[in-house]
Amino acid sequence: MYLELPRGTRLPLNVRDYLAWVDPYGVRVFLVFCAPGSKRLTGIAFRRDQQGDKSLASQVCDWCLSPSGAGQVGLLTTDVDAKRRVGVNLCLDLRCNERLETAANLSGRSAVEDTKRLLERMSRFASEALGLELQPD
Ligand SMILES: [Zn+2]
Repeated sequence: MYLELPRGTRLPLNVRDYLAWVDPYGVRVFLVFCAPGSKRLTGIAFRRDQQGDKSLASQVCDWCLSPSGAGQVGLLTTDVDAKRRVGVNLCLDLRCNERLETAANLSGRSAVEDTKRLLERMSRFASEALGLELQPD
């Protein structure tokens, strides 16, 4: 796995929930997250090579379940191995937590539970679709 860190990032990364960023060309989206119950960070590099079908107005992000307002939800793909790729419908900037927090603030709730479920969905994708091991240390 090859990740390009955003400019100015200091190591070691201190990630509370997850960190996501888009490369300067807007082609790749990187995700680093801490799976619930694990102390290790998991990294996934996605590509935005297909923007999904924009005519599908009902697209929602598979992870945060936010509906696509301004075409922000689309297909992100990542390599499972040299021959296989998987795609998942997600917020194209992976700012799922910001959307969850906004929605929670608007309804006067805390986003803690929503964020936990988001991380569980990320972990499930990493383990079931990509076969990554997310064993707790
Ligand atoms: Zn999302």
